[in-house]
Amino acid sequence: METFIIANWKSHMLLSQAQEWVESMNATLTSTSKKVIICPPFTLLPFLSVQKNMLLGAQDISPFGMGAYTGAVNGAQIKEFALYVLIGHSERREYFKEDDTILSQKVTLALEQGLTPIYCVQGKDTIIPSGIDIVAYEPIWAIGSGKAESCEQANEVALSIKAKNSIKTVLYGGSVSSKNVASFTAMEAIDGVLVGSASLNAVEFSAIIQNA
Ligand code: PEP
Repeated sequence: METFIIANWKSHMLLSQAQEWVESMNATLTSTSKKVIICPPFTLLPFLSVQKNMLLGAQDISPFGMGAYTGAVNGAQIKEFALYVLIGHSERREYFKEDDTILSQKVTLALEQGLTPIYCVQGKDTIIPSGIDIVAYEPIWAIGSGKAESCEQANEVALSIKAKNSIKTVLYGGSVSSKNVASFTAMEAIDGVLVGSASLNAVEFSAIIQNA
């Protein structure tokens, strides 16, 4: 089974910073056998898409198609640069008031465009729309807090998500670092990690990929 390492840059990084990051990460990305997917802000997708050894995801997708929807980036536009899209992140649910209806609309449009959604859930009972293959389990309190969930507890939730939804791939996210990543990827039901703040630092992110 492949190990997924997903970087969520959130609303961080300017072009000059991304250029430096790519330079520092080049050796690791060339040599790793792990599936590393970078989810940058939309503005950096064109730049990253022409780099070598780079799998990309968007952090969001419009709930509408092409048309008069000011500020929205639709699935066809994302597909020009990326293969994956994060949907259902707790920050989107909280700050942008995205509910299950809008999230499943986003999933439908992503799938229509051949994008693979990485669907974020906050617990074992979070509703997962049909058509999802990859789920990222991220307890809200663990995001950006420096306090990761225990690997045993995360494994239990991953097992339950797999059993209930016939999902093949479940990742853990929430304060993953180079120090704790191996404890998660060693668990039977955890197929990789979703990394926020620690993915911004190329040295730390390289260590996460190596230790995973
Ligand atoms: C996230 O926001 O998806 C995340 C896992 O953040 P962090 O690694 O910073 O906790």
